[in-house]
Amino acid sequence: MNIYADRGNLLMLERRCAWRGLDFKLTASGLGEPLDGTAHDLFYLGGGQDRDQRLCAEDLLAHKREGLHIAARRGAVVLGVCGGYQLLGSSYVLGSEEIPGVGLVDVRTVRHEGPRLIGNVAIEVELDPGTPARVLAGFENHGGRTHLGADERPLGRVLRGHGNDGHSGFEGVRRGNVIGTYLHGPLLPKNVWLADWLIATALRIDIAALAPLDDAFEDLAHVGARRAAGL
Ligand code: GLN
Repeated sequence: MNIYADRGNLLMLERRCAWRGLDFKLTASGLGEPLDGTAHDLFYLGGGQDRDQRLCAEDLLAHKREGLHIAARRGAVVLGVCGGYQLLGSSYVLGSEEIPGVGLVDVRTVRHEGPRLIGNVAIEVELDPGTPARVLAGFENHGGRTHLGADERPLGRVLRGHGNDGHSGFEGVRRGNVIGTYLHGPLLPKNVWLADWLIATALRIDIAALAPLDDAFEDLAHVGARRAAGL
């Protein structure tokens, strides 16, 4: 799936690697195509409408579920955004219909009768214990409310916006290097610190080993996104 600048997120990863002389290769895995969980460092699942999600869910289960589990077990980064986040979990329930997810994380999403949760959002995230909390700013638009299982940890704490279900105060999920979030539009260009964390984690190197870049524009984008969210 691909919506709200999902491709822009991939472009951001590609550029930040290229600017540092790091080789980057993007491989798409479309409907019906298999997924080799041992062949890549980072796996990205974008967002989509409910209709697209049905198709992708079927395909994920038939062709990609096992590959994604192999990838997660070997510590590869798996990032799911919005619809992709929902499908990382156990299921997405729409009325009497239950769309199964790949079950990488114990989360369940239920399509709510109420209003869609839409707007600019900012969350506080602590990706590595002992490092200062950072802000992720973005945009959310989802009808589903996502509930985390008892042993699951959220990605962050909502500072502004709705988050997983509009009232828990939590956003996203994080289990090891598997991350799900409702923030898109576009997540990584507005939060390059996360892009760098993903690159370093995927390559299994210390983030301090990544050459610094001139992030003047990116910092402005981050400040703008925070401001839009009311921070
Ligand atoms: N279809 C899902 C929902 O509305 C996800 C939407 C999206 O990816 N923007 O909850």
